[in-house]
Amino acid sequence: MTEDVTLADVESDGAVDAFELDPLACPGVFYPTQALDGVLSRIRTPGGLLTATQARVLADVAEAYAGGTLTVTNRANVQLRALDERLPVEVLRRLQRAGLASHQPAVDHLRNIMTSPTAGLDPDALLDTRPLVRVLDAYLEAHPELGVLSAKFSIGIDGGEHASIAAQPNDVLFSAFRDTAHDVRFRVYVRIGNDPTSVVDLGLALTSDQVVPLTAALADVYLTRTPADGTRPRLRQVLADRSVDALRADIAGRVPGLAQASPREFNPRPPHSPVGVHAQVDDGVVYVGLAPFLGALTSTQLRGLADFAERLGGGSLRLSPWRNVLVPDVSVADVEALQAGLDALGLASHAEALAAGIVACAGRAGCGAGLVDTVRDAQALSARLEGMPLAGAPTIHFTGCAKCCAQRRPADVTLLGRAGDIETYDIFVAGEGDARLGRLVRTAVPAAAVVDAVAELLAEVGR
Ligand code: SF4
Repeated sequence: MTEDVTLADVESDGAVDAFELDPLACPGVFYPTQALDGVLSRIRTPGGLLTATQARVLADVAEAYAGGTLTVTNRANVQLRALDERLPVEVLRRLQRAGLASHQPAVDHLRNIMTSPTAGLDPDALLDTRPLVRVLDAYLEAHPELGVLSAKFSIGIDGGEHASIAAQPNDVLFSAFRDTAHDVRFRVYVRIGNDPTSVVDLGLALTSDQVVPLTAALADVYLTRTPADGTRPRLRQVLADRSVDALRADIAGRVPGLAQASPREFNPRPPHSPVGVHAQVDDGVVYVGLAPFLGALTSTQLRGLADFAERLGGGSLRLSPWRNVLVPDVSVADVEALQAGLDALGLASHAEALAAGIVACAGRAGCGAGLVDTVRDAQALSARLEGMPLAGAPTIHFTGCAKCCAQRRPADVTLLGRAGDIETYDIFVAGEGDARLGRLVRTAVPAAAVVDAVAELLAEVGR
């Protein structure tokens, strides 16, 4: 079987070295990286789609190898931290059998396919994007030669849901719209150049059937233009010297029958939070979104979620790029029982839950680039705010450095770690200023004083 051969490759040290990546780049399940707190392994879950059975497999692996904890990432994947060593081959096989790792380790890192966690659930969406996620995943698995693409190659599929992933960073975004004949088509937005915020509309109107061929054409352009020195630049870097017209010509020769659409400026809709109880397409059922604090789940919580998904839902879960978990297909009559069960598991499922608004990257405790212990400070702030009367759940982002891995848009309050002898933060609030951070309002606030400073700011801005 292919699986046996490729796993044997992975078993040999040489094969692992071939996948070795920048520790700050993108670890995978076959090629984990060494972080400050131990080995870091990332299990990709295309579209954030997870069955109850898969959730139990993840819970078992987290329990056996990661101290019983896993985290949902901001790409709606699952991460295991602080492992003593990389996952053994028998575990990799189990993950492959469960559909949690590619049968082709060479392309597992490309399973960065994001869609709304409410795909197929949101009554106002233009279409259900899940079949596209699956067909793209199958396409990647069938093309191991694409393994040379950057580990950060990423695709977003926006079906027009309220919980929109359009603003999330992806190399390529397929964004659904209705054309003048009221048919659903996809615009194609591509990141080009070294400015990661530079996104261009290719001026195309794709049918669903053209999404995979268009992806294949872009991958082909990458393969023909990538340097021969073994480096894996980002797609946007490979395309940096390509005009939109030239790129469109490259693609047109590879995908027949492309229709044109007037290019639009990239102006993605801000996402609505999926936390809380929300109506679904089907009458009588809802989805319930919950917010594990900083995306962290214990294996006990994950098994509990799998049980609830089977007993009170449709047997599946969704992960979101905002590090939420959704339980879809819950009968309206069962919502109260589900929320009581989630409360007992320590999982907040109310739209106003404080945990829904606080995000933090790994910070100094887990990342070599971290200037401050973001997780410690986020926990301290959460404990402090728990007792405060707040108007709604404020969004608060702790980032260990300017890379802003956890969130790339301004929150109500953003805390940016600074270099120095003691841990300090610069504090920003939403408003005119830096595109990721907002408006600078305090500088060099010692970490020990940051909780008070944020509490004051929230009072000032009326949150
Ligand atoms: S933002 Fe956080 S996780 Fe990302 S590189 Fe900086 S410290 Fe590390």
